[in-house]
Amino acid sequence: MPALETQPGDPLTDSPERAELRRMARKLIEEISPNERTNELDESETFDELLYSKLAELGLLGIDAPEEFGGSGDVRDQLVLVEELAKGPTSMAAFMIAQFAVVQVLAGFGRTPEAREVLKALIAGQTRVSFALSEPDGGTDVARVMKTRAQPVRSGGFLLSGQKTWTSGAAEADWLVVLARSSEIDRSPVEGITMFLVPTHLPGIEIRAIDTFGIHSLSTCDVFLDDVEVAEDAILGDLDRGMRQVFATVNREGLNAAAATLGVGLGALELAVEYAKERSVFGKPVASFQVPQHWMVDAAVQLEAARSLMGRAAEIEVAGGDAGSLASMAKLIASDTAMEISLKGMQLMGGAGYTRASAMQRLFRDGRLWSFSPLNNEMVRNRLGEGWLGLPRSY
Ligand SMILES: Cc1cc2nc3c(=O)[nH]c(=O)nc-3n(C[C@H](O)[C@H](O)[C@H](O)COP(=O)(O)OP(=O)(O)OC[C@H]3O[C@@H](n4cnc5c(N)ncnc54)[C@H](O)[C@@H]3O)c2cc1C
Repeated sequence: MPALETQPGDPLTDSPERAELRRMARKLIEEISPNERTNELDESETFDELLYSKLAELGLLGIDAPEEFGGSGDVRDQLVLVEELAKGPTSMAAFMIAQFAVVQVLAGFGRTPEAREVLKALIAGQTRVSFALSEPDGGTDVARVMKTRAQPVRSGGFLLSGQKTWTSGAAEADWLVVLARSSEIDRSPVEGITMFLVPTHLPGIEIRAIDTFGIHSLSTCDVFLDDVEVAEDAILGDLDRGMRQVFATVNREGLNAAAATLGVGLGALELAVEYAKERSVFGKPVASFQVPQHWMVDAAVQLEAARSLMGRAAEIEVAGGDAGSLASMAKLIASDTAMEISLKGMQLMGGAGYTRASAMQRLFRDGRLWSFSPLNNEMVRNRLGEGWLGLPRSY
């Protein structure tokens, strides 16, 4: 769909290097993970190891990490890769968002030689790390309800006990970044939480897969911690400051979620446009009727609006400014639109959209994730109400 591409003179057009990255990602996906294979992996709930190893080979697992650890590029490159992956192998986009999150955490707060080695291996594709923040009592307000405890022990280390849930990729991970309450709540629930780097093989850790609606090619897990002993140097950053330390990472996840849902929306729109042109009813292509044409046009407009907001947010972030509100707007519009397109896309395809072989239904299931994660769209609206419009805090 050339109309969806940027044009000369567009201030947010890809730089030549970024355009090359986009071309490379598209070629890779076309060759290795076209929709047919991606659907098979989704059906068998299998991680796309081949695509992952190619991403590692191409040096794309450490975008925006410091060069000394094998990183390159910045947030704008992350967005390109996530968007392109989300159009087809969406589970890999979810994996990359989690990968970029743990890379950011380790690059920012991994001060020990071990943590630095883990970061290098993570970027080289030789180890995997999952991010365990959410808990059974809640993800939105996780600091307030956090029950996982870090109890100091005589050796100077800690015993970790509690349960994490929804941890992406934990079944295949060698390490976990675990946030645990290390001091009782005093003034604010975000204080008194510490972040630890924990090997998954330690005694007392049990990981169980959860059966989810979508993102089937990436495990989503419960993580049980039963008196797991870690040394003091397992701490990432500072004692009791873990929650504050991850704010930037969670915000970046939000911007990457905008890219993911932009990709899901574009993937679904492309499928809808193709199908509508080819399928005839009453002797005419479905595309010739105004109802489908109008919603497809509205969808394209919304996606371009999301791309513009996302691009502005990324430029502001690169310049060191506060991109929070624009990133939130981009995520809202992209995720709402992706859901609408994939739902209407299934309707447009009639029975064909109701089969498991259809990529449209997979995009619908996969894209749902980002309407409530990393922050649900209701809370995104609450924050914009307060921060952008100056309305009273509503939560
Ligand atoms: C596939 C998958 C992968 C995930 N990966 C990870 C991961 O790797 N690491 C991790 O830590 N977490 C992960 N998560 C967890 C995810 O971040 C949480 O699901 C999310 O933060 C929401 O938390 P919750 O599910 O506990 O919903 P809750 O916090 O219980 O919220 C439920 C609903 O209540 C409504 N709501 C909440 N607050 C408000 C409000 N103030 N105003 C209006 N409505 C409100 C919203 O509709 C919200 O969806 C993952 C989840 C899934 C499903």
